[in-house]
Amino acid sequence: GSIWEDVPMAKPDAILGIAKEYQQCTNPRKVNVCVGAYRDENGKPWVLPSVRQAERILWEDETQTKEYLPIDGDREFVQCAMRFAYGPDVPLEHLAGVQTLSGTGACRVGGTFLAAFWPNHPIYCPNPTWGNHITIFKECGLDVRRYRYYDRANNGLDLSGMLRDLQKAPRGSIILLHACAHNPTGCDPTIHEWKQIISMIGQRDHVAFFDCAYQGFASGDAEADAAPFRYAVSQRVPIVLAQSFAKNFGLYGERCGSLSVVCGDAEQKERILSELRLVIRPMYSSPPRHGSSIVKTILKDEQLTKQYYEECASMARRIQRMRTKLVECLSTMSKHDWSHIKRQIGMFAFTGLTPDMCHQLTNEYYIFLTTNGRISIAGLNDSNVEYVANAIHAVTD
Ligand code: PLP
Repeated sequence: GSIWEDVPMAKPDAILGIAKEYQQCTNPRKVNVCVGAYRDENGKPWVLPSVRQAERILWEDETQTKEYLPIDGDREFVQCAMRFAYGPDVPLEHLAGVQTLSGTGACRVGGTFLAAFWPNHPIYCPNPTWGNHITIFKECGLDVRRYRYYDRANNGLDLSGMLRDLQKAPRGSIILLHACAHNPTGCDPTIHEWKQIISMIGQRDHVAFFDCAYQGFASGDAEADAAPFRYAVSQRVPIVLAQSFAKNFGLYGERCGSLSVVCGDAEQKERILSELRLVIRPMYSSPPRHGSSIVKTILKDEQLTKQYYEECASMARRIQRMRTKLVECLSTMSKHDWSHIKRQIGMFAFTGLTPDMCHQLTNEYYIFLTTNGRISIAGLNDSNVEYVANAIHAVTD
């Protein structure tokens, strides 16, 4: 016997489980529209040429070392990340920013900080949201609640339900918002709707926790995608920002991100930074340096930045083209209205397919997706989009 006899088998992660099934499937027609990672026109992962170029520069620079980064990460990287997110107008002396283990780590560090320094305030997440949000914030010890977000009947934003729920939430609640390209719905408020949402958050003295996992990847324009939280800052709504560089820089496995708190002055910033370091130190001591070195190398160089912006926009354009093509194919055969897919933005389409239809897509057509009807548009290309449209038509006819 062993002392571990009674350890039960944990439930597998839904998304990673489907990804494994896809790998094991031997049918040549199989399509992976499950995992939220960019794929090129040939269905292959894409390392951005600007990222390769930055790696070449780093590799040739003999002053580069493998020393530990400070607890709060590479200061130059954090400054570049802050500029990228907040634009030129917010003074860096007011931003308590730390490097994190991608967006997940930023949510975890931010949640733990809030549980300690904004205690007894619930966090409200949209319904639906990225599944990990709920688990992360519970692990942080926060009281996790939901606000209405998506109206399944109309396949659009439930703005009035959302505003009602934000109004009813106890004063000072933490409101988790997807900065752009809402996961899983692909449904974002318009800038006019954002202004109403942020005004309600301000009226109720709530704290806006923006999770920004797709800046630049949504519209193709990093400035436009940052508009919601830049507007919140301009309205003096207190904000916490989680940034991921996984999707927009294609740095998934490098685990590069940041967490920042907008402070009132430079002295407050130093105090908040000191507490963020105390959150990080017992969790993992310090972050990895490769991904942040890449982002810093790109964003410090005007030419590489320009190249990077174009490459990021090209990913958004390809996804937009596939979105349009999928809807066009469907509309030639289906009696249903699929126009919501065209209105959605970012990596995903929230199709409205039922769990049974999703199972049928997988079992009969070898199309692998999550059972909430979410498909990753990045998994589509000119060779499979018609096949996928035909299959969706077959299971919804
Ligand atoms: N937040 C949202 C809304 C996401 O969709 C994701 C990734 O799918 C993340 C955060 C975090 O991703 P990562 O930890 O890879 O940066």
